[in-house]
Amino acid sequence: MAAIIDGKAISEQIRQELAAEVAAMKQKGVTPGLAVVLVGEDPASQVYVRNKLRACQQIGIYWEDHRLPAETTEEALLDLIRELNRREEIHGILVQLPLPGQIREQAVIEAIAPEKDVDAFHAQNVGQIVQGQYRFLPCTPAGVLELIRRSGISVEGKDCVVVGRSNIVGKPMAMLMLHENATVTICHSRTRELPAVTRRADILIVAIGRAKFITGDMVKEGAVVIDVGMNRDENGKLCGDVDFAAVEPKAGHITPVPGGVGPMTITMLMKNTVTAARLAGRKK
Ligand code: NDP
Repeated sequence: MAAIIDGKAISEQIRQELAAEVAAMKQKGVTPGLAVVLVGEDPASQVYVRNKLRACQQIGIYWEDHRLPAETTEEALLDLIRELNRREEIHGILVQLPLPGQIREQAVIEAIAPEKDVDAFHAQNVGQIVQGQYRFLPCTPAGVLELIRRSGISVEGKDCVVVGRSNIVGKPMAMLMLHENATVTICHSRTRELPAVTRRADILIVAIGRAKFITGDMVKEGAVVIDVGMNRDENGKLCGDVDFAAVEPKAGHITPVPGGVGPMTITMLMKNTVTAARLAGRKK
């Protein structure tokens, strides 16, 4: 029987810590501010934006909700970003992805001032993460690391296998585990003998987007299993990339879906916004 890593409880604890930090900053005259930009009416994106703004309210962060129509041009979006870059009371800018086809995502990401790039997707921030000296960590990998730390799991010297190599999750996740002194293996769709590789993992982090893909025979007895995936199963129920019922009896620690990594991502966005405000204050 695995210990269940309760992402909801850990996330709540961090939000309380952040709320205290924001209250102290306000006393010194600084209110962290986040601008969220949503282009179009994608229903999933609307839910994400709503949850982000709700988290701002809970923590005491000033927020702005910029909604643009689906037919917005790239130039119009870049104009808005430039304006937000200039405004002192905005410390973080988050453009909700995906963007409509006429807008190049990379051009938008690179237009955000690196010190306001609270998603940590800008090339400058990515480069700093690789170098191990960073202002922000990307939200989902940062959330995973926080779950591991706050569950008292040591990483140093462990075999860590990350399945998935996206720029948003897999690659930065592997880099963070490397900085934590794990021995890291990255797997992807072309990896040969995947079960043999995942079975070597002391810490297995899965971010592929395939419902219940990781089965019991792919996991070592006692392993820490972190499931980043968010999928719908055959009954339309939210589930992860890990077959929880099959893996949980073998694992030492495991994150559930929902209630594992999911709640941490927005909390880490809040943390990055607070960090951005703190760093902006220091520059003055
Ligand atoms: P991407 O689709 O960008 O990347 C998926 C990765 O998984 C790719 O590197 C791909 O390999 C690899 N992959 C796909 N199929 C296999 C396979 N059969 N065997 C091995 N590797 C495979 O996804 P994301 O990284 O953006 O997201 C992954 C999952 O995490 C999704 O379910 C997403 O919803 C979820 N997610 C959850 C978040 C949260 O807050 N909890 C935040 C972000 C994502 P290749 O590169 O070779 O194609």
